[in-house]
Amino acid sequence: MAVGAAPGPIVIVGAGLAGLTTALSLAPNPCLVLTSGEFPGVCASDWAQGGIAAAVGPGDSIAEHVNDTLAAGAGLCDAEAVHRIVRQGAQAVDFLETHGVRFDVDDSGHCDLALEGAHSRPRVLHIGGDTSGHFIMQAIVESVRQTPSITVAEHHIALELISHNDQITGLTVQHGETVRTIAASAVVLATGGAGSLWQFSTNPAGAFGSGIALGLEHGALTHDLEMVQFHPTALFAGPGPMPLISEAVRGQGAVLVNDDGEVFVDSLAARDVVARAVHDQTAAGHQVFLDARAVRADLADHFPAMMKACLQEGLDPRQNLIPVRPAAHYHCGGLMVDARGRTSVPGLWAVGEVASTGLHGANRLASNSLLEAVVTGREAAVDLLANAGSADYFAGQPRSVVAPSPEHVASLIQRHAESWRALATIAPLMTNAAGLVRDAPGLQGAIDFIERRYPSNPPSAAVAIAVLKSALARLESRGGHYRSDYPALSPDEVQHTGMAAQSTARSAR
Ligand SMILES: Cc1cc2nc3c(=O)[nH]c(=O)nc-3n(C[C@H](O)[C@H](O)[C@H](O)COP(=O)(O)OP(=O)(O)OC[C@H]3O[C@@H](n4cnc5c(N)ncnc54)[C@H](O)[C@@H]3O)c2cc1C
Repeated sequence: MAVGAAPGPIVIVGAGLAGLTTALSLAPNPCLVLTSGEFPGVCASDWAQGGIAAAVGPGDSIAEHVNDTLAAGAGLCDAEAVHRIVRQGAQAVDFLETHGVRFDVDDSGHCDLALEGAHSRPRVLHIGGDTSGHFIMQAIVESVRQTPSITVAEHHIALELISHNDQITGLTVQHGETVRTIAASAVVLATGGAGSLWQFSTNPAGAFGSGIALGLEHGALTHDLEMVQFHPTALFAGPGPMPLISEAVRGQGAVLVNDDGEVFVDSLAARDVVARAVHDQTAAGHQVFLDARAVRADLADHFPAMMKACLQEGLDPRQNLIPVRPAAHYHCGGLMVDARGRTSVPGLWAVGEVASTGLHGANRLASNSLLEAVVTGREAAVDLLANAGSADYFAGQPRSVVAPSPEHVASLIQRHAESWRALATIAPLMTNAAGLVRDAPGLQGAIDFIERRYPSNPPSAAVAIAVLKSALARLESRGGHYRSDYPALSPDEVQHTGMAAQSTARSAR
């Protein structure tokens, strides 16, 4: 059964900040947004706490923001990309404000800027204390609802991309029990991060890098997949995503202590340094706590999300120590994209956390990711409008894609279900082998195990193996990647790790 009489719409996979920014920036040109859950629903954008970094404050400059970003990135950033994205900070803020976002202001009515780790000055615009992402997404979702050119299809999971002559021409999508193909003039991956590949993670459940898996199946190039930022202070409570306890709480005077009451690290040192120090304590059998009892600020006022999460666990941070441990938080690596958001596969764009733009290098500067989500969404839309809308672009592209065979549907559904099941095994393995401290035997052992255990290579296993192989290939310690067998920076020229899986693409039939 052919679907669509013409090359289909621009299809955006993901309804977080990056996907919705792309959709709004395409308006009034039509697009279809697919999201695996409800709309609006769970996504990292909604959970963002601190806010968005932009050099808009008095005395701040793009040059300073660039320098801070490059320093955090530990030599692995693409300087041009950093300049390009940071330069658009004010436009990103304008874009959000145009769509109804109202950032917190100080007593004199000016934007209230917060200071976050590794920023040389206050630079982070926020809303409602540590619930910035939720309020940003509320406004953006409302704007999407008011935009007739955007169709959002909730509970639609992209299972695979379809190509013709090596160009992406559509996707196969699952909606409940139904699997169907959708023809697309272009596909934009906005699928977010991969934190749930690790046992301890701040990311929404199911954020295992599905966009990376979709891209890898078509040979998309990746960059620096081993670069994962681990946040040092996630609330160590029950299973599932771990609530984040913002660095800003330490900025207000909270300190990390172990179960002997010892302060074992400078709580405001760089994020990777603090995270490894916490890891070393837990590896040595200690419990680690954040002591916020002496914090001067009103915790309920400044950190409502943190207070709520702790109180739900029966802990009052004004009186109790908060048990914490490091958690996989942000994927700095991803699908390699150029300045227009194009991946190495024709017809396929990537925006937001799934993409590797070169902004973050080996370590993300706090609150640069919402900035990247807005800037890359806008840039991709400009490119899509200039290209995917033109007749030339469609030359040779089929005007429909064919429905998958029943056997193929069955195998896709099975692979997808196996991908979820596999996470229960893969996540503890990743925490041990590709966590804060890595070495060759651990990484190779994990690769061998996953390959043996999951020969059908379901998406979560494919992404885990790609991360492990990248970590094995980087013979040095840099930023978020620490190899106990290569504890220093390599003296050689800085290299990106990258790989393209053998294409297993299903051609348009
Ligand atoms: C707890 C927490 C706090 C954070 N705080 C900050 C902060 O203060 N400042 C900052 O800059 N960054 C912060 N970050 C990082 C930032 O939130 C993310 O990097 C950013 O929001 C990613 O946006 P995105 O649109 O790329 O992805 P997301 O917002 O994660 O959206 C991904 C979307 O893709 C959909 N999806 C995934 N796979 C599929 C599929 N196969 N088919 C269909 N749909 C799919 C999901 O359902 C979801 O809608 C934080 C992250 C976390 C987890």
